Amino acid sequence: MSLKVYNSLTREKETFVPLHEGRVHMYVCGPTVYMDAHLGHGKTYVNFDTIVRYLRYLGYRVLYVQNITDVGHMLDSGEDRMLKGAAREQRQPMEVAETYTRNYFRDMDQLNVLRPDISPRASGHIPEMIELVKRLIARGVAYEVNGSVYFDVHAWEDYGKLSGRRIEELQAGARVEVLEEKRHPEDFALWKRAEPEHIMRWPSPWGEGFPGWHLECSVMSTKYLGQPFDIHGGGVENKFPHHESEIAQAEAAHGTAFARYWLHNGMLMIRGEEMHKSLGNFITLQQAFERWDPLTIRFFILLSHYRGPLDVTEEALDAAGKGLARLTAAARAVRRRLSDAPAGEAAAAVTELVETTRARFEESMNDDFNTAGAIAALFDATREVNALLADEAALTRGSLEALDTLYRRLAGDVLGVLPENLEEGLEGLAAGLVELLIDLRAELRRNRQYAQADAIRNRLAAMGVQLMDGPEGTTWSLS
Ligand SMILES: [Zn+2]
Repeated sequence: MSLKVYNSLTREKETFVPLHEGRVHMYVCGPTVYMDAHLGHGKTYVNFDTIVRYLRYLGYRVLYVQNITDVGHMLDSGEDRMLKGAAREQRQPMEVAETYTRNYFRDMDQLNVLRPDISPRASGHIPEMIELVKRLIARGVAYEVNGSVYFDVHAWEDYGKLSGRRIEELQAGARVEVLEEKRHPEDFALWKRAEPEHIMRWPSPWGEGFPGWHLECSVMSTKYLGQPFDIHGGGVENKFPHHESEIAQAEAAHGTAFARYWLHNGMLMIRGEEMHKSLGNFITLQQAFERWDPLTIRFFILLSHYRGPLDVTEEALDAAGKGLARLTAAARAVRRRLSDAPAGEAAAAVTELVETTRARFEESMNDDFNTAGAIAALFDATREVNALLADEAALTRGSLEALDTLYRRLAGDVLGVLPENLEEGLEGLAAGLVELLIDLRAELRRNRQYAQADAIRNRLAAMGVQLMDGPEGTTWSLS
């Protein structure tokens, strides 16, 4: 069974065959580091992290590059994002870039997003960018005017092949702010002349200036991954003009294909609306983490297909938290039972459960990374695991090891939703101790020693551990 991915370039689901056997070279457009990452960033980078994790699970050696944009990314208003951040905080642009780069990685670590193998900074690749611009001028697809260099989209007939937009549409859609100096309104800047007040500037053959955002990604992807490379990912909102322009620049400069598979993830919505500062529904990841565990947010993201939109509601996040707790509890119980399990091979029924679950999980993931289907397979398995766990005698060490590996590999390594210290470490120990006290309290209550039982509950409450008695036993949470 082979991996199929939906390729935005061909608009078809294709069998994935990497350029070099056993290796995958992958690039995803990174954040522009002028403010804290928001929930939409969470979706994008959790989606692509899970894709990288699954490719590694399949045995590929993945080289994953994700850039840091610290120059040249303009807002629709024409303002430079980095300079806007610097003005807001009264600091140098590079201080702002450093702060939000660190914050970005902090947030991603919390979401259990593995760090890319290379995180190139745009500002560290200016000489390579200038080289690419020179090449495009030499090839006749770019021209210089007044210290700025533009890509001539009419000189490159493939322009529009990713987004399916035609030049006539581009003209209609071109921004109102049409610079007189451009040959056509839809031409885009490769290099921009720095106005006197523009702090971020570098010398170039065309005078002092700075690179265009699209140019940065063409340069940083191919520098580390070669051209062509296997997978280019990014948010669907960047398909045009960003990705379209990345392709045009790289292919016009080098005369070979740029990226072979284009993967676009869908937008994140808040209660059916796009997230936007002006709508008052803008949520940074740190704000979201105050209310929900980062792994709950990760799990919630993976309950939907990466290409689809994801609608965030509080109810849906709460429900995701409960689902993940069920999965984690079963994985934890399996791990805990391992230590004193009777020796013995895995039971045939357990082996079959593990194999069926693994097959269903892989079948879903091989279908364009259908994480929702993969999670459904784990939920079905968890129902059976819970039944097995309820029967004290049924589980040998071999059976428990097989189940533990299943959770570790699929929920842990691929989906990244199991806490690292499921059992080990102080947190796991503390969780184990709370469970022990819950068992003792239940024993005391069975023996009608209510005063001692209540003392346990009250002492735990004083430490911030709430016990909840329900029809299926006692659960606990940190208050
Ligand atoms: Zn990009």
